[in-house]
Amino acid sequence: MALDYSTRTVRRPAVPAARRLDADICILGAGIAGISAAVEAARLGRRVVLVDGAPQLGGQAVGAMVGTFCGLYSNGPKPVLVTHGIAAEILRDLRAAGDAHDIVGRRNTRIVQYRVVALQRWIEETVRREKIDLVLGAVLRGVRRDGRRVAALDLATRYGDVEIGAAGFVDASGDAALAWNAGLACREPGATQIYGTLIFTLEGIDPDTLAAFDRAELLARLAAKADEYRLARRDGFVFAPTGAGEALVNMTHLETPLDPVAASRVVLDGRAEADRLVAFLRAEFPDVFGAARVRAYGLPGIRQTRWIVGAHQLTADDVRDGMRFDDAVARCSWPIELHDRADGVHWEEFDDAHMHYVPFRSLAHAEADNLVAAGRCLDADPVALSSVRVMGPCIATGAAAAHALDLAGAGSVHQIDLSALRQRLANNLDQEA
Ligand SMILES: Cc1cc2nc3c(=O)[nH]c(=O)nc-3n(C[C@H](O)[C@H](O)[C@H](O)COP(=O)(O)OP(=O)(O)OC[C@H]3O[C@@H](n4cnc5c(N)ncnc54)[C@H](O)[C@@H]3O)c2cc1C
Repeated sequence: MALDYSTRTVRRPAVPAARRLDADICILGAGIAGISAAVEAARLGRRVVLVDGAPQLGGQAVGAMVGTFCGLYSNGPKPVLVTHGIAAEILRDLRAAGDAHDIVGRRNTRIVQYRVVALQRWIEETVRREKIDLVLGAVLRGVRRDGRRVAALDLATRYGDVEIGAAGFVDASGDAALAWNAGLACREPGATQIYGTLIFTLEGIDPDTLAAFDRAELLARLAAKADEYRLARRDGFVFAPTGAGEALVNMTHLETPLDPVAASRVVLDGRAEADRLVAFLRAEFPDVFGAARVRAYGLPGIRQTRWIVGAHQLTADDVRDGMRFDDAVARCSWPIELHDRADGVHWEEFDDAHMHYVPFRSLAHAEADNLVAAGRCLDADPVALSSVRVMGPCIATGAAAAHALDLAGAGSVHQIDLSALRQRLANNLDQEA
């Protein structure tokens, strides 16, 4: 049969109609917190629309190549899993496939390394299976409000505008983009800058040689030679997940501004710093890194930029004291990990019995009835946030956001039955497994 190669002439309508989607729960941000919220909400039978400005799922867990799950386990010699839901499923499936490996003892807990591509595919297949409606490459540019309720999001994509109406919204954007665009109160760090990191992977390294490499020697050489190589940070780590054939390097510090031009510049500046770091490693430790080459650069990893004003701000003392709130929805024992200086990190590790909690009020925006934050844009002071922004609590707060909006329906998240919420989240609060 002859193929038809004819063409047709088309022209955009003067006022193109936005594509309209309606949902019970709309989630902005498909990082690990947004994925957790979307999967939980879908499993509650809710119509879910998940939106992200990036063309792929996974947020920083994938795009910034974070590579390790922290804050999923308690402290001490026998750490137990303290966040379940998708966390338990990810660990089960990635471990079974040899794509996740545990490090026990470091930071007095259990940390789980994962192969980034394996986590990415796990997320994609789960979102597909749960039939979650997805709008990727969609940047939020406006939020419509009806008093204390968020009514709809206006998004721009390369294929045209999209408008999403929903009964409830989750701000899992990391930078509180939903709250900010809605004109609601947000917080930013004051005088003290919180640094991000551009992570990258290296190939051409023998994993056994790297495993035997003395980290103290690396840090001492950095202290002596960082200026010579124009390196800001004088600590960090290189590790090779078993069987991955590559090493992941988390050793840079970058400012992560919210200005669009400056933020774009950080991508290039971060990669240039990564290259200087590789030059340092190759020249100073030729036995380990002499043949090392960059395999892939992540996107700049952003730790703490802007977050919501919740009904309660979690404080450093709440974290240090292990304050157990009546409306607790997430827990973790990860240290305070404050990237508040260019050259290093302030760490405060906790003892074996320590556990701290995130109250639901830190997720519920103080000025809205149907807007709940999840992940790294929940309300905490910079010190407290430096602990509860790791991926364990991000997953737990994502689940909490979905359940709270499910309970609220057309009502207010500030008036939900907290005992019902606690009951639904019992696995993430009390169970030891
Ligand atoms: C360098 C670095 C290393 C880290 N190391 C670890 C570690 O080893 N272990 C650990 O557990 N945690 C680690 N963390 C912390 C943890 O990775 C992050 O805090 C966590 O992944 C944040 O998840 P999230 O879902 O809250 O946000 P993100 O992963 O940041 O996802 C937010 C999503 O929202 C989208 N978005 C934002 N604004 C808009 C908009 N206007 N319109 C549309 N979409 C938008 C983004 O595209 C993104 O996909 C690290 C963080 C960094 C930066």
